[in-house]
Amino acid sequence: MKSNYKFWFIIGSQHLYGPEVLKEVAEHGKTMVGAFNADDAIPFEVMSKGVVTTPDEITAVMKAANADDDCAGVITWMHTFSPSKMWITGLSLLNKPYLHINTQFNRNIPYDSIDMNFMNTNQSAHGDREHGFITARLRMKRKVICGYWEDKAMRERMGSWMRSAVGAVFSRSLKVMRLGDNMRYVAVTEGDKIGAEKTFGWSVNTYGVGGFAEKVKAVTESEVAAKLKEYEEKYVMDTDNLESVKYQARLEVALDQMITEGGFKAYTDTFEDLYDLKQLPGLASQNIMGKGIGFGAEGDWKTAALEAVMSEMSLGLTKGLSFIEDYTYEFGDGKAAVLGAHMLEISPAIAADKPKIQVHDLGIGGKDAPARLVFEGKTGPAILVTIIDMGGRFRMIVHDVDTIKPEKTMPNLPVACVMWQPKPDMITGNEAWITCGGTHHSVVSYDLSAENMKDFAEIMGIECVHIGADTKLDDLKLKLAMGDVIWDK
Ligand code: MN
Repeated sequence: MKSNYKFWFIIGSQHLYGPEVLKEVAEHGKTMVGAFNADDAIPFEVMSKGVVTTPDEITAVMKAANADDDCAGVITWMHTFSPSKMWITGLSLLNKPYLHINTQFNRNIPYDSIDMNFMNTNQSAHGDREHGFITARLRMKRKVICGYWEDKAMRERMGSWMRSAVGAVFSRSLKVMRLGDNMRYVAVTEGDKIGAEKTFGWSVNTYGVGGFAEKVKAVTESEVAAKLKEYEEKYVMDTDNLESVKYQARLEVALDQMITEGGFKAYTDTFEDLYDLKQLPGLASQNIMGKGIGFGAEGDWKTAALEAVMSEMSLGLTKGLSFIEDYTYEFGDGKAAVLGAHMLEISPAIAADKPKIQVHDLGIGGKDAPARLVFEGKTGPAILVTIIDMGGRFRMIVHDVDTIKPEKTMPNLPVACVMWQPKPDMITGNEAWITCGGTHHSVVSYDLSAENMKDFAEIMGIECVHIGADTKLDDLKLKLAMGDVIWDK
């Protein structure tokens, strides 16, 4: 996978053991880094930064990590014993995501030959405890992973954390374009944009819908034709109303220009503020989302930003993610489920089959009937994720669900949809989400796990509530009450 993200692998030691031991430690580190980079379970490049043995070396490497925009995280490991007062200044300065792995070069104890030389060289069980103490003492945000470095399970956990770290680093430079304000009177899409920039790094700013409309008018016929060709290649043209499809092409070309010019990775619009645009962007926003740009409807900039972050975390993964909204329930015995959809904007990245372009009335907003992609979502395990503003702080909610194929086709449903059964069951799952204050908008991902999102939340320093197979409502309420004590500062 092509990506600039790099993870710095730093081995801690000291001079007490002599140069021969340090040389052996460095060789082991190089072997490990080579093996990590040859394994698909490790999704981003690991860079060997050698063995550090003095406070000055440690401080220098942490400063360099901070200064390198491509560095998405620091991974430390104590092959031997590295007295941790040497690390205080460096770790205190570090502002990159931080993983401490607790492993050792040899899998087995060499029972027949083990002596004190071996013990001195291979003592990470010992050295990693000294290191863990100082990071605990410094109250560092960190992840600790123990396991044998050649084991798949260990590497997969490292890879999973690396995705969370990439999300965090990406988040800190994310720019979000708002076209129009939030939908009138809606509470859950509101939030503190200064707080969001401080916490997540999201720069959320408004751009005039009139300016967008002018750009739409300036789109050329050849630009429309090229976009139309792209639509015809990717989707099934299931409408005679080509004019409506062409207008979406026009909207998309103009949106693309604004996104590129502004360096945005997410945007919002709202059906209540369309100036003299003829249609709400539907197909246009869907096709843009399919390329990894975050989108939030009705001015929902938090979900737009979250979708962009989760998209970056999913680099190289192919099952997909999308903006989604809980719409309506099936309460039948044994088949209870939630039908998720939106009035237009679901990403084709999660389509089970080739999406169809259709044109239907929107029903609200008083504009022309917009072209949109209609499809059913993929099936299988997935997560729903949202971030809400609790006033002075943010809460992330992650819900494990099973997406399923709807029992029957819905020939009159004019939008894309996904159906899911919430964990631990329909009633408890929905009660839990609503008790947490979970939004109707969220991001559905088939690639990421609850652990990815928990690690991201820990790096960003926010509360994360996970609703899964083990969730019990009484425990959840206690967690939320404890969360208020911990997070309402
Ligand atoms: Mn909505």
